[in-house]
Amino acid sequence: MADRSQKVLIVGGGHAGVRAAQRLLARRRPADRLEVALASADNVELWHGLMPQVLSGALQPQHVMVPLREVLPGVPFHNYEVRELDLDGRRALLTRGVEGDEMHLDFDYVVLAVGSVANLARFPGMMEHALPTKTIGDFLYLRSHVIGMLETAAERPSAEERRQFLTFVVVGAGFAAVETASETAELIKSSLSLYPRIQPGEVRIICVDPGARILPSLNEELAGRAEKHLHALGVELKLGVTVASCTSAGVTLSDGERIASRTVIATAGTGPNPLLATLPVPQTRGRIACDEYCRVPGWEHVFAAGDVAAVKNASTGRTSPPMVTYALSQGECAADNILAAVRGEKPVPYQHTGLGEVAIMGRAFAVAQLRGRSMDGRLAALAGRLLFLSYMPSWRRRTLLALDWTAARLLGTDVTRFGVSRSSAVQGMRFNAGDTIVGRGELGNYFYVITEGEAEVVERGSGDDRLLRRLGRGDYFGELALLGEGRRTATVRAVSDTRVIAINRHDFGALVAAMPAMLSRVPWRDDDVR
Ligand SMILES: Cc1cc2nc3c(=O)[nH]c(=O)nc-3n(C[C@H](O)[C@H](O)[C@H](O)COP(=O)(O)OP(=O)(O)OC[C@H]3O[C@@H](n4cnc5c(N)ncnc54)[C@H](O)[C@@H]3O)c2cc1C
Repeated sequence: MADRSQKVLIVGGGHAGVRAAQRLLARRRPADRLEVALASADNVELWHGLMPQVLSGALQPQHVMVPLREVLPGVPFHNYEVRELDLDGRRALLTRGVEGDEMHLDFDYVVLAVGSVANLARFPGMMEHALPTKTIGDFLYLRSHVIGMLETAAERPSAEERRQFLTFVVVGAGFAAVETASETAELIKSSLSLYPRIQPGEVRIICVDPGARILPSLNEELAGRAEKHLHALGVELKLGVTVASCTSAGVTLSDGERIASRTVIATAGTGPNPLLATLPVPQTRGRIACDEYCRVPGWEHVFAAGDVAAVKNASTGRTSPPMVTYALSQGECAADNILAAVRGEKPVPYQHTGLGEVAIMGRAFAVAQLRGRSMDGRLAALAGRLLFLSYMPSWRRRTLLALDWTAARLLGTDVTRFGVSRSSAVQGMRFNAGDTIVGRGELGNYFYVITEGEAEVVERGSGDDRLLRRLGRGDYFGELALLGEGRRTATVRAVSDTRVIAINRHDFGALVAAMPAMLSRVPWRDDDVR
């Protein structure tokens, strides 16, 4: 037994981190002399599985999150990002905010529970154009974007243009994909009465996935019923193909098909938390390769749990999938084994018989495989909701969720659009060779700098286009329209696959106001696109 109190630092306030802290608090004894602290970049425990329902408005965004200070009373909580962990020196460096505040925390034991992050870098153009589905902000943005597409399409006289704005591509065919596609379909279906100029047949929602079927972790019959429900909602499936590339104008599939769309929703594509790259820990497929006790080999005092950890499940002999119930039970296992280490007892291997899986696909349908029993339809939707309610930490939370679901059933979907925009002032964009980046006569909203590839400035005549200028890496265009002309005076087209960074007109205006010298460097030319 140590002669001073032992400090446990939990890094990450998701399901694994929260459950580890709760278990330590519930099971520690005064003789253990254990202090528990938690540091997390977010100050809420987020229930990812409920997020798609925020898209359709069935749930209020704040009701799918639980404040950590509410769920962990008595645990010192630091709303910081852990930037560095010195595993030998047992010290963590924490930072927060644009102000760059920092602090250090010492520990005797650490639990790594930082989850995973969205990583679309593997797919050409997805990082620039696809909408991720990892955070609550992503879903709020997505909802606002979908409603924005309806508003835009409703004003376009050309059927071809309307089709592009009304085509929604969902990348993936797992739980997040089918739930997101279903909720998008419900949001649009319940909104169309407000957009009489849009015909239901003009809307396309397409799930694209390389697999042979959707929901591969469910049995085939259940997946088939989910597929039937998607068809009933008007969701198309393109299976056995991947998204080969993605631009602001649409996607190209691996079989060569091009789908014109302004909305690509990425539910596939997760990557390791960047903290892992800084740690000398063994890794397998982007997760920490733990032993069966949730310990990190080589460090008896370092534990990992949840999506960040690859832990073999003694019940199945297989590595646990990145799912909620595994994160919860691994958090508990890490806590139990810290207590065992403090008390000099034998650690217990991780063992978990998964409860099952549920995909809630809209207001009145779900597919569920719970404790080996398959169900679908309203019964499964009810079971899925009761399951989520059973995990909520208080009656207040349960009541808020239940009220949301009841209101959505009785009063229909709320199509209010939040004014959510991207937080980044500089936006990356990618264009395929031949794509038009800006068109003559369009209102200028962005200033562009080419970071890769080549583009040409052309004047569109009745016959051939007249080439005005070639642009390459480091060249910029679009400023005149922002500084006075209003409309583009020529067209800029990508000659090769081209990447640009774009700054919106408000931010560009602010930049120019702050740096008047920039204006003197702009080569004002009458025949150029500005
Ligand atoms: C859209 C979507 C739908 C899903 N649906 C389901 C479902 O229906 N069923 C299911 O079982 N699973 C589902 N999952 C997966 C499930 O959400 C995860 O398995 C689960 O959240 C993992 O929990 P975790 O605690 O490991 O990580 P997380 O819940 O991701 O929590 C990680 C925490 O660590 C914090 N953090 C990260 N880096 C740092 C750092 N450097 N310093 C401090 N804090 C940090 C983060 O802020 C976050 O709070 C879904 C996931 C998504 C994205």
